[in-house]
Amino acid sequence: MKEHDESLQDLTKEGPMTEYEAVIGLETHIQLNTITKIFCGCKADSWEDPPNTNICPVCAGLPGVLPVLNEEVVLKGARLAAAMHADIRLVSYFDRKNYFYPDLPKGFQISQFDQALGDGGYLDMPMPDGTVRHVNITKLHLEEDAGKTKIEGGRRYVDFNRCGVPLVEMVTDPDLRSADEAAQYLIRLRQLLRWLGVSEADMEKGHLRCDANVSIRPVGSTHLNAKTEIKNVNSIEAVRAAITMEIERQIALVEAGGRVESWTLDWDDTQKRLKKMRSKETEADYRYFREPDLLPLVVTEAWRDDIIQNLPELPLERRARFMEDYHLPEYDADILTADRPISEYFEAAMQAYGGDPKVVSNWIMNEVLRMQNELSISADALTLAPGHLVAVIKMVDAGKINTATGKSLLVKVQESGEAPEAIVEAEGLGQVSDDAALLTVIEGVLDSHPDEVASFREGKEGLLGWFMGQVMRETQGKADPGRTRALLEEALKGE
Ligand code: ZN
Ligand code: MN
Repeated sequence: MKEHDESLQDLTKEGPMTEYEAVIGLETHIQLNTITKIFCGCKADSWEDPPNTNICPVCAGLPGVLPVLNEEVVLKGARLAAAMHADIRLVSYFDRKNYFYPDLPKGFQISQFDQALGDGGYLDMPMPDGTVRHVNITKLHLEEDAGKTKIEGGRRYVDFNRCGVPLVEMVTDPDLRSADEAAQYLIRLRQLLRWLGVSEADMEKGHLRCDANVSIRPVGSTHLNAKTEIKNVNSIEAVRAAITMEIERQIALVEAGGRVESWTLDWDDTQKRLKKMRSKETEADYRYFREPDLLPLVVTEAWRDDIIQNLPELPLERRARFMEDYHLPEYDADILTADRPISEYFEAAMQAYGGDPKVVSNWIMNEVLRMQNELSISADALTLAPGHLVAVIKMVDAGKINTATGKSLLVKVQESGEAPEAIVEAEGLGQVSDDAALLTVIEGVLDSHPDEVASFREGKEGLLGWFMGQVMRETQGKADPGRTRALLEEALKGE
């Protein structure tokens, strides 16, 4: 990886209208969703617990205690590394990163430095315009989290609950070129983490944290200019806003003849602006050395191969397969692989249906997703199972019920848990497509609305929809819309 260089800035103007591009790298900290912390038996996720209630001598850093590595952390970290196409090192090491901070009781953080669990890796990220952006991973290692400090009423409080919570730190090369690409990277990363089941990846709760390194250069240059580092961006929207603002600031500065300095910036999410934290920060000397209280982390080849072979089909792979196998548009494939439950729901429905995948896709994207959003649950938690959905689609296909009835039927199945066929039977929801029955209703509607009939015949053909509505009302929505339309037109234009 090339280092950013501020002594030789390449910001030369080649004309009056230099076009700039952004050079962005993201550093993420991912909280693994293990039951216990990385080096002790304390509960890992204490988001809702009172301060300092999930601590022990190990994570509180008392003298003389020894860390014991949690195997689940290694497993989940390795699974993530494999999914990022990183190599898993058979022998990796833990190191001490020494610094003083009130929320770091040991005076050092146990992390991995030069020989980390993951080596390399990348994410091939599909962009909304159809292109694919290849993002390389520079760093993927395990480490423990620090605690938190909070200032309240002029006092600073320390909460050690988060000390020792397992993290994967993952850093990209400066491969991203816009705020949108940075946001897209985080969206894909979050999707992957949840898909793998290794992290809740909730940015608001700090399960996924992001710092962004931003610099600019003229389009065509390969130089890395001085960068700024934006800290504390805790949502995808904040990442997008903060990076956009910083790119604009740097371009305006350079255009005015100024120089970008390597500041550390803090994103203030309430005021939506960047604040300078400190300037001219050089790489701190953390005096890394091997953690003497832990053995090298050794995994066998068989263990590593097992992790790789047991990876599920990844979201972007499944997305591509949905487009390939089911001939779904990219838009549909993207939505139907947004999370694992919805993608499994679609495939289960396709197996039961066997017909046009686009039909199933439309019903899921319109009806099932709306239901999910209203209830705030995932697809696998719906009472409306894929089999129920398919039964409804098949009744619509066969003309037994119309589409509107089908949609309301889905809601009834979700609420009652009863089979759709049984509800249709019990409530008499079957579609009226018998011409004689429809004609009786149509004649009744025309007879009671002579003025509208006259207007229609004078040329207000838009009234057809209104007549359709009347017939639907008379039949409680059960009229076959196609047949009704044909018969209505005939009756209205007939005389
Ligand atoms: Zn502990
Ligand atoms: Mn870190």
